[in-house]
Formats: sequence, C-alpha cells, structure tokens
Amino acid sequence: MILIFEQALLPGGWAGQVVAEVEDGRFASLTPGGNADGGTRVAGRVLPGLPNLHSHAFQRGMAGLAETRSDSDDSFWTWREVMYRFLDHLGPDDVEAIAELAYREMLEAGFTSVVEFHYLHHQPDGRPYAAVGEMAERIAAAAARTGIGLTLLPVLYRWGDFGGRPPAPGQRRFLCDLDLYGRLVEESARAVAALPDAKIGVAPHSLRAVTPEDLLFARGLAPHGPIHIHAAEQEKEVVDSVAHSGLRPVRWLLDHAELDARWCLIHATHVDGDETRRLAASGAVAGLCPITEANLGDGIFPATEFAEGGGRFGVGTDSNVLISAAEELRTLEYVQRLRHRRRNRLSGASPSIGRSLWEAACAGGAQASGRDIGRLAPGASADFVVLDSDHVSSVGRSADAGIDGLVFAARTNPIREVWTQGVRRVENGVRPGQDGAEDRFRAVLRRVLA
Ligand SMILES: [Zn+2]
Repeated sequence: MILIFEQALLPGGWAGQVVAEVEDGRFASLTPGGNADGGTRVAGRVLPGLPNLHSHAFQRGMAGLAETRSDSDDSFWTWREVMYRFLDHLGPDDVEAIAELAYREMLEAGFTSVVEFHYLHHQPDGRPYAAVGEMAERIAAAAARTGIGLTLLPVLYRWGDFGGRPPAPGQRRFLCDLDLYGRLVEESARAVAALPDAKIGVAPHSLRAVTPEDLLFARGLAPHGPIHIHAAEQEKEVVDSVAHSGLRPVRWLLDHAELDARWCLIHATHVDGDETRRLAASGAVAGLCPITEANLGDGIFPATEFAEGGGRFGVGTDSNVLISAAEELRTLEYVQRLRHRRRNRLSGASPSIGRSLWEAACAGGAQASGRDIGRLAPGASADFVVLDSDHVSSVGRSADAGIDGLVFAARTNPIREVWTQGVRRVENGVRPGQDGAEDRFRAVLRRVLA
C-alpha cells in the first residue's frame, strides 16, 4: 500500500509530500518529496501515534464513581476501596465490554497502542477461572476488535503489604502463587499470539505486593519483554518501604533490581534528587500518568529535573478516569509550571512544548511497550494520527504550533484520523461502524450499578 502524507513528522523533523510504503502493517519506506501515482492521499499533519504505557482497562467502568466525599479523609487508599467494590461485580463479558470501549476511546484520543497492566485474573471468590488466562483472553479480544496495538503484562500480585503481609479480601481476584503465575504468563502469551505484533511482558505489581524473591522470579519469565512495576506513587508507600528495608522504593529498585531499558517504573512520584538522577541514568522509563496522579492526589514527579538529566518518560491513562492523549501531556507540563512558577518546562530538541512532549512520550512509550512503534520510520508499525490543519486550534499556524494547539488549546478533538498497522481505525474523529460497543458498555454499567 502507498500513502502520500501532505505533511509528516519524521524522526528528522517535518517533511512534505511524504510517500510512505506500507507492507504487512509496517512502514517499508518513507520518501519526502516523492512521487507516487495511485497512492492514497492523507491530507493534514501526520504524527506518530502515541503509545499509552499504562492502563487498567476495567477501571474505565468506574470513572467518576469515586468523586464523592466520604466520611473518611479521602485518599488513594479510600479510592482503592471503591475500586475493589466495583470490580467485585465484573465477569469476563463485562471486562471485555469495558475494555473495548476504553480502547476505542484511546484510539479516538490519539493513542495507537496500549500497555495493559492486567491484574484482575480470577473469579469473584478468588478461584481461578477454568482457563487461567480467561481474563487475558478478553483483553486480547477487545484489543483485536478495536485494532489498538497491545502489550499485555500479566501482573504478579501475592501479598497485602511489604514483608509478605497477608492480602486483604478485596485483593483475592488478583492473587497468584509463583506456579499459578507461571501458567498465567504462558496462557497470556497464547491469548495474544493471534494478534499481529502484540507483545507480552511481566509486571510485579509493586514492592507492596511482591517480595524480592517474587520480583526475581517474575523478571526471569520475561527475558525479552518489558518489566513494569508501580513504584512510590504514595508517600505512605515510601514510609512503609523505609520502615521495612531502610530504603525508599525507587532507591531499593535502583540498588537491587538491575534497572535497565527493559524496565518501566509507573509513577515514581516520590523520588529525591539522588533517585531522580540515578533513575534517569539507568535507561529505565518513568511511566507518568498525569491525569490519574492528579485525580488520586498522588503528588508531583520532578519531571523537569528528570528530563534535564536525560531521563526517558512516557504517559499512561492508568485509571482511565478520562482518556485523552492531549490532556495527559498538558497536565504533565502544567503541573511543572505550577511547581516552578515558570512557563515552558518540558522542552526537548524542539522549542515547541507540544512537539517536545509528543516526541518524548512516543520514544519513552515505545521503549516501555517493547514494540517498534512511536516513529514514522522504516520497520516501525504503521501507526499514526492525522491532525486537521484547519481545526480552530491549528489553523494558519506552523506545523509545530499545530501540535501546541492540539495539546494546549483544542476544546474539541483535532485528531481526524487514526491508523494502526496500516489500517484506518478512526475517521472524522470517531471509530466508524455500529458494532454495539457503547450499548454493551451501557448494559454492563446499568447492571453493575443497580
Ligand atoms: Zn496503575
């Protein structure tokens, strides 16, 4: 297939009249200023699709349900209780319906791939389903129907807190011993095998939920895949970690887990200056989830210092309370502005903050996904978004300023088309076809919330 991009953001910068050859879902070549007869013309500005490096798809179903003040001093920990109650009612069909809607919304928002940090494994009473990988199959099915690229991370969750404390009843659907986890990873790999270019990795949930021995075991199951872990999202976790091991969570991982480019530390919110420098130098990705971190009141990651130290980062939609690529990047930048009382903090090679954020999150997100994505280059998956250059947020502006418009100034979505693996998934801003995904989502929510 031949595509002709009016304007495209290649690794070396913007280029016009780019003739892109796509074979088996990947770019075979991209030639600026090329000539092609009979190719499909793509009008507008073409950006690499943004990877979403952290999602718990089922949580899309509880979006907005935890915004009511309770009697207790509401925090991450009280939100978690709401989440445990919500998931108690979800079966495999429900999870698949919610995931499908979430993945559709991600595509419409400009995310062309997702890393699913998948921990809802078992039946409501905690017993495994007849097929241990039942829920993983449902995630894979939702990804297949929407066309979003998938990295599936089966989660190892064993304990209730540091030091191998017993888990709480609300955690029983997540729990695996090491034998069961090994089977789960195998079945998860089978579940994604039918998807073109899907990837499997592992996710020890957090230092609260695994011991050092469990962490080593999980790492051993992913010799080539990405390894993700929640780290230092909450101050309480830092205090508990110091009480248990004498080390803060990220410091512990830096000292004991051999962090490298395969690793992604989700949140890493509470890090000191030394941890920030060492994490940046490790080559691991900081998996930032700005909307969720704001929603949960987690705290502020020192992204400015981390990026200045050469740190790699990407963004994830995590709790999926609101799915928006632009808003994740905007929140990330705005929080740094509020923190420093200065403007234009997270600049990269380009002075345009929108473009810098987009490019950094593409590179970091691709690394954390373990897939060749996030770039318009030969060999990479043909995943891209097309911005409407006549949208009110970008009309009359330079191409870079068009991305600034998308990230900072668009009240409606200027993303007109989204393609993954060389197939157009979103047209005129929406995923086409009346396939009933929204109706299935509504039916699940009506039943669960009744
Ligand atoms: Zn998470």
